[in-house]
Amino acid sequence: MFVDSHCHIEDEEVLKRAFDAGVRVLLNAGNDLDENDIALEMAKKYKNVWTSVGIHPDNVLDKLDKIKVDDIIKASLDDNVVAIGECGLDYHYGSDFKDEQREMFLRHIEASGKTGLPIMIHHREAENDMVSMLKEGLKKYPNLKGVIHCFTSTFEFAKEVLDLGFYISASGIITFKSGSDILEVFKGAPKDRVLIETDSPYLAPVPFRGKINEPKYVIKTAEKLAEVWGVSLKEVSNITMNNFYNLYQKAKR
Ligand SMILES: [Zn+2]
Repeated sequence: MFVDSHCHIEDEEVLKRAFDAGVRVLLNAGNDLDENDIALEMAKKYKNVWTSVGIHPDNVLDKLDKIKVDDIIKASLDDNVVAIGECGLDYHYGSDFKDEQREMFLRHIEASGKTGLPIMIHHREAENDMVSMLKEGLKKYPNLKGVIHCFTSTFEFAKEVLDLGFYISASGIITFKSGSDILEVFKGAPKDRVLIETDSPYLAPVPFRGKINEPKYVIKTAEKLAEVWGVSLKEVSNITMNNFYNLYQKAKR
């Protein structure tokens, strides 16, 4: 039994295929809390399917005047919402609106600190600002916790966020030839801080690369971890499931 700790799905057929493949726990991440109705309805309808509320960094400019800390908190109160996010900093695509991204990310940190819900972080090419914002957040909210989802950065950055108590999440990228450096990060990471995900519909793992990704393919990422950790697939399944529930405590087994 596997968990997909970060996907974006709107189709119940995709969900059923995941269940059939043995992927039984899913976090269907919100990336625009004004448009999260489908994910919320699916989470209400299916056991072990959860959702989150947040504004993806790509969507920040439209929402800066509209979505405040209290709006995020209010949307997070539903029983099926187990995390704040996805949110964060993307300086690859959003290099011309960094200030706005930081402002919106700060609101999510506040919402996470105030609700106690973990923060699900999108991060790309913003290492210094990410670490300093998380450190600031931890000063104000010592219990702040969360995950860098779809981790694609360096060993040094991984060490910094792990030292701050955060988790890192492996996507299909670790199955790519070009993902070998990232795979090395997961090989050396403490096993109790690693999650697995698809980020579907993007980033399908090998041998499905280029196709539409689905949660059922999370098993390919788990197989890669089993290989580099030198443990069985079953152990990876157990470890990553336990890690998921340790982080997202509002999700009940
Ligand atoms: Zn995502």
